[in-house]
Amino acid sequence: MSALVEVPAPGIQHAAEAATKTIVTVAHGDGIGPEIMQATLRVLDAAGAALEYEPIELGERIYLRGVTAGIEQEAWDSIRRNRVLLKAPITTPQGSGYKSLNVTLRKALGLYANVRPAVAYSPFVHTRHPGMNVVIIRENEEDLYGGIEHQQTDEVVQCLKLVSRPGCERIIRYAFDYARRNGRKKITCMTKDNIMKKTDGLFHKVFDEVAVEYPEIHSEHMIIDIGAARLADSPEMFDVVVTLNLYGDIISDIAAQVAGSVGLAPSANIGESAAMFEAIHGSAPQIAGQGIANPSGLLLSAVMMLVHVGKPSVAEVIHNAWLRTIEDGIHTADIYTEGVSRKKVGTQEFAAAVIERLGMEPNTLVPVRYRETVSTLVEAKLATAASRDISMTKELVGVDVFVHWKGSDAQELARNLKLAETATIPLEMITNRGAKVWPNGLPETYCTDHWRCRFHAASGEAVDPRQVFKLLEQLHERGIECVKTENLYTFDGKPAYSLGQGQ
Ligand code: NAD
Repeated sequence: MSALVEVPAPGIQHAAEAATKTIVTVAHGDGIGPEIMQATLRVLDAAGAALEYEPIELGERIYLRGVTAGIEQEAWDSIRRNRVLLKAPITTPQGSGYKSLNVTLRKALGLYANVRPAVAYSPFVHTRHPGMNVVIIRENEEDLYGGIEHQQTDEVVQCLKLVSRPGCERIIRYAFDYARRNGRKKITCMTKDNIMKKTDGLFHKVFDEVAVEYPEIHSEHMIIDIGAARLADSPEMFDVVVTLNLYGDIISDIAAQVAGSVGLAPSANIGESAAMFEAIHGSAPQIAGQGIANPSGLLLSAVMMLVHVGKPSVAEVIHNAWLRTIEDGIHTADIYTEGVSRKKVGTQEFAAAVIERLGMEPNTLVPVRYRETVSTLVEAKLATAASRDISMTKELVGVDVFVHWKGSDAQELARNLKLAETATIPLEMITNRGAKVWPNGLPETYCTDHWRCRFHAASGEAVDPRQVFKLLEQLHERGIECVKTENLYTFDGKPAYSLGQGQ
């Protein structure tokens, strides 16, 4: 392609979008961040996106100023005012004491849906899976990412996995709405509910409940381990995947890599009142400043942002120009393949090539169509509003007391505990790291210094909470160190706690 191609006269919709100025907060990031952001903004401006950028500082420089969260008040104010953040990757300094800024932003702003499309651009970008076109929708706020961790004994640390019904419901609803809105036919839910029957079990249960409301979309469930294996091996069999936070984090990187390159993959973090758009890759410090980074992940994230802020027509023009650029073999080093690519370009040259192709569509790859798309913002609000409030009858029936004890004989611990037990809540079981060691434990079970001692109402009737306090007092008086307790409840008469392994 030689001369600059003129952008065709914008259609009515494009003109309307161009007439509406939208302010977005922009973080230029660290490492390759500033280079890929510059390239991205050039394309947005050339396409007539009519955006005004409010820059903020995030990341390394802020961390190194001693702000462990990596973000200062003015930046929060800007994001909360504009409600849209386009963010380049940032570098998290090595060492403990720094909290992940991404997790902070997602949780503080309620960005509950992480949407990560992974698409193969075969034969133009090398992949073993040319038919791949999958969107991973990852729950973004809960699960193990609560960051609630404690050391409880000399030997044992704990991370709390929190999963809520409204949290499950809105991400699952979001996934189904996304599928419906984008003409997708199938949703696969991935959990590990064969092991985590309460947390992952809730996610699966809510998935089944919500699926009924979308009969036109085929729904299925897979255990995450086989799901991840199939995603890596046969990604063509997936359409939309919805899953919990940690699994989603892992499988979306697998999906991006399998599709061709992490450098191509965009992401959107969507909430009811704010949204953040960023490439899935990091700040790639090894190649920073060399002008060779691929800006595509950030550019395609910006395309998702344009749809979100109600500029689907501009989004479509940019995305199709980008597809055409890829198809024309204009490639950055990370995706350059001898014999397939035509020209190896740097970051800014790639942006210029996309700009040259604004108004053009791909010939072999399928052009995108966003013009009829509803803003993601609307969908995010709908999914939350539809969540149902469920109240159940809850009764206390016992307590798990976690004890720091350096002995090794569960029989001996049980004898001590039984001296402290009360008539209403006698000792029922002891487990170590979840495996039952009393009564009838096996000598082979390896035991640490962290014991879960279950006291359960003998009668099966509700327990007065004061009985639990009394029990704890008696344990304390006998020199037994309780590091934590978990109340045992029934909900609507059904036990709502896991059994011991082997119970
Ligand atoms: P990375 O994604 O930065 O790099 C992984 C590999 O991919 C490297 O070989 C890199 O050169 C290559 N790569 C990444 N993006 C590319 C692009 N656009 N074009 C060409 N090649 C690209 O992951 P990392 O090395 O594990 O992390 C580096 C830093 O980024 C760390 O400080 C990490 O904490 C941070 N990080 C930030 C984010 C974010 O801000 N969203 C995400 C992940 C990692």
